[in-house]
This record gives sequence, C-alpha cells and structure tokens, in this order.
Amino acid sequence: MSLADAVLHGMPADGGLFVPVRKPVFTWPPPEGSTAEWAAPRLIGDLDPKLMRSVAREACDIPFPLVEVEPDRFVLELFHGPTHAFKDVGARFMAALVPQLADASNELVTILVATSGDTGGAVANAFLGRSGTRVVALFPLEGVSERQRRQMTTLGGNVGAVGVRGTFDDCQRMVKSCFADDALSARHGLTSANSINIARLLPQAIYYLDAARRFDEPVHFVVPSGNLGNLCAGLIAARGGMPHAGFTAAFNRNHGVANYLQGAPFAPASSVRTVSNAMDVGDPSNLERIRWLYDGDDEALRAHVRGVWITDDETVSTIEHVHRRSGYVMDPHTAVAYAAASRHDGVSAPVVVLATAHPAKFPDVVEDAIGEPVEIPRSIRDARGRKESMSVIAPDLGELRALLDGVSS
Ligand SMILES: *Cc1c(COP(=O)(O)O)cnc(C)c1O
Repeated sequence: MSLADAVLHGMPADGGLFVPVRKPVFTWPPPEGSTAEWAAPRLIGDLDPKLMRSVAREACDIPFPLVEVEPDRFVLELFHGPTHAFKDVGARFMAALVPQLADASNELVTILVATSGDTGGAVANAFLGRSGTRVVALFPLEGVSERQRRQMTTLGGNVGAVGVRGTFDDCQRMVKSCFADDALSARHGLTSANSINIARLLPQAIYYLDAARRFDEPVHFVVPSGNLGNLCAGLIAARGGMPHAGFTAAFNRNHGVANYLQGAPFAPASSVRTVSNAMDVGDPSNLERIRWLYDGDDEALRAHVRGVWITDDETVSTIEHVHRRSGYVMDPHTAVAYAAASRHDGVSAPVVVLATAHPAKFPDVVEDAIGEPVEIPRSIRDARGRKESMSVIAPDLGELRALLDGVSS
C-alpha cells in the first residue's frame, strides 16, 4: 500500500491502522530554517520532498508560541490556527495534501470524520471550498460545546454536519464500519480525517520538534490525551531522534490508558462525559500505533511515558489557581495536562505542557473558574451570528449510509 493510498483511504479494510514502512529519523539538531519544511519530507518519506515542503509550508503557517507560565513550566500554545485547536495543524496538512494525491483519479473524495469536539471544525475549515472534496462530520449531539458545533454547522458549501444521538465512540464505530464496507467506500471515495489518518497524525510531530529545538536541554512533554494522536506524534519524533526527558500522557476520567501505563493490562471502556470533552475517549485508536512504535515492548513504552489522570474538580481548580498565581488563562484540556505536570516528583527538566485549545472555546467552564469573561477571538465571534444547518441521526449505520447516499445523489 502506498502512502497516497493510505491517505486517501484513511484506514485499511482489515480494520487495522496504517503505519509508515520505515520509522522516520531526525538527525539532531535540525539545520537552521523552517522546522516544518525540514521535518515534513522526513515524516513522509515516500512522497516527493518538494511537494512535502510546500504542503508543510502551507499547513504550518501558524505560530506556536511558548509561554513560561511558572519557572521552568512552559505552555506550548497550539491553538492559533483558524479553529483555535491544535487539530488545525493536522487538518490543514491533510487538506493541502489530499487534492494533490487525488488529482490523478479525478474523483470526488468524501472525508468522513467522527469528532469528539475539535476535529470536525478543524477538518471542515481546512477542506472548505477545496474542489473535488466534501466533508461529512459526525459528532455526538450532546457531547460538544455550542462553539465547537458552530464551527461545523455554519460553513455550508462542501461541508455537511451530522449530529448523532449517541456518544463519540458511537460516531467512531459508525465511521469505521463505513470504511470496512468496500462498496460504500468506493462509491463515495471515502477517506477518514480522524487522527487514524496518517496524514493528520504525522505532521503533528512538527511542533514537538520545533519546541525541542528552542531549548538547549531535553524537555519533558505533557500531552492532554484522548484518541492518542497527539501523543503518538510526539513519540514518533522522540523515537526518531528528538532529544527529550520523557513524556506524561494526561487523561480525564476516561483513564484506561493511564492505568495501562501504570502497569495494568489495557481495558477499553465506554466514554464518560467530562469538562475536557475532546478527551472523552474510552477506546483510543492510536494505542495500537504507539505499541507498534515500541515494537510491542510495553515496558519500554512505560519507561518513556507516564500516565496520569485528573478529575473534573481538579481540572477546574487548576484553571482557577493558575489564573490567580500567574494571570494565565487555560482551557480545560490544557488544564488536565497542567495538573498532571504538577504531580511531577523527580522531573528536573523543563516541562512543556501542550495547550491544545483556546480557552474561549469553553467559556462556561473557564469563566466559572476564573470569575471573569475570556477574550473571544474574532473567528469565534463571527460564527455566532451565522445560521446553523445539520442532519440529526440515531447511532445507526443504516441511517448514516442513507445519508451518505442521499447527499451525493
Ligand atoms: C482532540 C483533542 C485532544 C486529544 O487529542 P488526541 O490526539 O485525540 O489524544 C486534546 N485537547 C483538545 C482541545 C482536543 O481537541
């Protein structure tokens, strides 16, 4: 299977996941110049390096500021893209790449995506208006914030939003079943834009590499985790040669992977709702890829990655305390990681907490915690007045199939 096929089909028919044939290698330190343009051809080795550099240039035209919130505790802000969540990076990379790969076949590509919050908006925005593509974004009706929903339902054009009366895991299961159906996949040129799509996952290594090169000693990364795409990308960078002083994977009450990292066997569970809703994942797809990275050696993985989980109460009190101590305002996902970072005994390296969303995406939780309004970025304000349109379906594959066939006829 070529990389182009992997990107255009999203996942293999056997229900597994694509991984690169060769693990990427990064000789350290990187040369002067753009981290994205250096890293992209190394991450995706089987496509034309010139194409990869231009895709990286287009996708990573977003700043990743590093803020020292407390001494030796940094926040890497990944939310300065169009939908104010880190998922813009992978989504924009994929949207820049797919039309280049699909050109040859000249068929409509349908990007079918299940979202627990931010993926749908990022993918919808990245593909909006790109000819030869359409987006169908599934989200749990009651599981996303109004602002997250509006980033999918107010775009129109080649973007269709589908509210599912169920959980994120229902949405993800339905999407997987569609990909397992060859006839349906072929009829619609289906591809996935979830973090299971390798083209979304790999470019996320870029901001780790970019952060690491800004320090003259190895840093410890703390990653707010759900479906584990973000963590997997960091570990790809680390396994490829990026210096690091370990990782912490931070979870909310959906903490099966935290238990596993602490030594228990992994037990998938149904997802439960929390204030960090984009991390409400009970059975993360990318755990398989992470195990592949470590050649199935659980102990080697556990030696690199600590698992920590945080309650909603602690998440909210972290937003409050950090704001009171330093004036810095963080969103609930970032706060889970920040709280996990505070449980560090024995890590003397600088700590870099990945900030995955802008606090204004979660005004209810954040404003309750800090007792004052959060500043709202312009694009979020603009989406407020626009008309919403979406379909609503039961968590039922038949309904999704009918909808896919309906929209295309
Ligand atoms: C998706 C998301 C996460 C979880 O990232 P994974 O790659 O699924 O582990 C964390 N925070 C925010 C804001 C997200 O949107």
